Amino acid sequence: MEYLLEVKDLEVRFALRFGDLTAIDGVSFTLDRGERLGLVGESGAGKSVTGFAIINLISKPGHISGGEILFEGRALNRLSDEEMRHIRGNRISMIFQDPMMTLNPVLTIGTQMVETLHAHRNISKEEAEAIALEKLKKVYIPSPEKRLKQYPHEFSGGMRQRIVIAIALLTDPALIIADEPTTALDVTIQAEIMDLLLELCESEEMGLILITHDLGVVSQVTQKIAVMYAGKIVEAGPTEAIVHNARHPYTQGLIRALPGSLRQGARLNQIPGVMPSLTDMPSGCAFHPRCEVRVDLCDKEIPPLTDIEDHQRRVACHLVK
Ligand code: SF4
Ligand code: MG
Repeated sequence: MEYLLEVKDLEVRFALRFGDLTAIDGVSFTLDRGERLGLVGESGAGKSVTGFAIINLISKPGHISGGEILFEGRALNRLSDEEMRHIRGNRISMIFQDPMMTLNPVLTIGTQMVETLHAHRNISKEEAEAIALEKLKKVYIPSPEKRLKQYPHEFSGGMRQRIVIAIALLTDPALIIADEPTTALDVTIQAEIMDLLLELCESEEMGLILITHDLGVVSQVTQKIAVMYAGKIVEAGPTEAIVHNARHPYTQGLIRALPGSLRQGARLNQIPGVMPSLTDMPSGCAFHPRCEVRVDLCDKEIPPLTDIEDHQRRVACHLVK
């Protein structure tokens, strides 16, 4: 069966005055229809760039310099701008951390929803309003008829993110890419929004790429995980297997940093050091300056992403075979 999405050997470069920098280096993963993938890593790992590359929204001086993105059988990176616009916001919707990146402060929610629908469907205003109302009900906005006539500032942060999700649902997309969708919200609201996303993905059979630095959130919602570090996938496989038995030292560090794994009296164990910048990539394994178990080979050779556990998992570490 054909995948919903297949990203093959994706490479993104930024053309700068002093030369090209590789931001995404050989990233590959697949997503079945209705499947949910978490793209995990600290900030600067290349998660958002990967998300933007899928919908062809890498801004200059960045560009896709290699690889292929197949969505519903079509090579997205070879479509015209016009064809890509049709897919974006129609078959693929995007949800960002800040709801105001999607919402226009000077238009009512109803107007924005009707305009979004009209950009993709040839339907009457009444039909568009009916769909908008149905989607607001799906995301549990109370008194949706009244709310359609209100402006974004009349909603709380959590409610605004619900409206963004309702807008993302308008065209019944096959895939949602959500980039840190709850990072700006209170913890209790975060959990509600994540539950809602999970419920909708299941009921509407939508695929999800959840981009986040938070492995805890990913483990609630996704079936598989790809952990990114310095523009590469360093570990990928089923969520359960990775959360309970991480093999890559970086993934192990992310798990130790989870508040949930705090034993009484133990301190939150952050990974020392920071993600390297693109202009200053370490030799060999990019994680070696921060790795507690590195060996002589680590600063000399880049560890290849290797299939292990009967092709259930991929890991890029010299110590994992
Ligand atoms: Fe650590 Fe070496 Fe494995 Fe990189 S390859 S994660 S430095 S042990
Ligand atoms: Mg990001």
